[in-house]
Amino acid sequence: MITIAVSKGRIYEEALPLLAKMGIEPIDNPETSRKLILPTTREDVQLIIIRATDVPTFVEYGAADFGIAGKDVLLEHGSENLYEPIDLNIACCKLMTAAHKDAPPISGRVRVATKYVTIAQQYFASLGIQAEIIKLYGSMELAPLVGLADCIVDLVDTGNTLRANQLEPRELIMHISSRLVVNKAAMKMKNAAVAALLTQFEQTLIENHS
Ligand code: AMP
Repeated sequence: MITIAVSKGRIYEEALPLLAKMGIEPIDNPETSRKLILPTTREDVQLIIIRATDVPTFVEYGAADFGIAGKDVLLEHGSENLYEPIDLNIACCKLMTAAHKDAPPISGRVRVATKYVTIAQQYFASLGIQAEIIKLYGSMELAPLVGLADCIVDLVDTGNTLRANQLEPRELIMHISSRLVVNKAAMKMKNAAVAALLTQFEQTLIENHS
C-alpha cells in the first residue's frame, strides 16, 4: 500500500485532477466524509488529507510514502530529510511582504508578523534589515491594522485578501508551487512501487504540458 499525504484546501483541490489522470480518485468525498484515510480507485493507493504544515512530518517519519506540499511549508519545515523530486506546478502563488497601503517603505528596525518565521528571518537578514519576527498562526493581515506589526510575510495569489484589508504587496520573496516529496526509506524499501508512481507523476505532468 502506498500512502500519499496531501495538504488540505487549495493544494488538495488542485492535486485532485492530476491524481485523477493517474487513476487515483478518492472513493469518499473528504468534505463530507469523516474518514481520515481515504481509499482510492486504485487499490494500492490511499490518501490522507492533512494540515499543510503536517505533511513534511508525516512523510519524514514514513507515516506517508509521498506528500504534496507547498514550497513555503517545505522551506519553513526544513526538507533535508525528504526527497523532493518533482515540482508539480500547482497551487502557484508568491511569498511576499505586505504592508498598509499608506505605510512608508521599510527603514531601520521592522516588526514583521508571519507564520513563516525562518523564511522571514533569512529574508530580512539577507537585506541587512533588523527584523523582530512575531509568529502568528493565521489572519496575518490583521497585524498591521491593529499595530501589532509594520508588515507581514504571507502568500499572495490574487491580492484580494490584502486589498480587502487596506494592505498592498511590497517585496517578492519567492515564487511558490507545490512539490512532491518522498520518504527516503520508502524510496529504498518500496522501490519498485515508489519508482513506478514517480514515473507516472512525471508522465502525467509532461502530458499536461503538451
Ligand atoms: P489571495 O487573496 O488570492 O491573494 O489569496 C491570499 C490568501 O490565500 C492568503 O490567506 C494566503 O495565505 C492564501 N493562499 C494563497 N495562495 C495559496 C496557496 N497556493 N496555498 C495555500 N494558501 C494560499
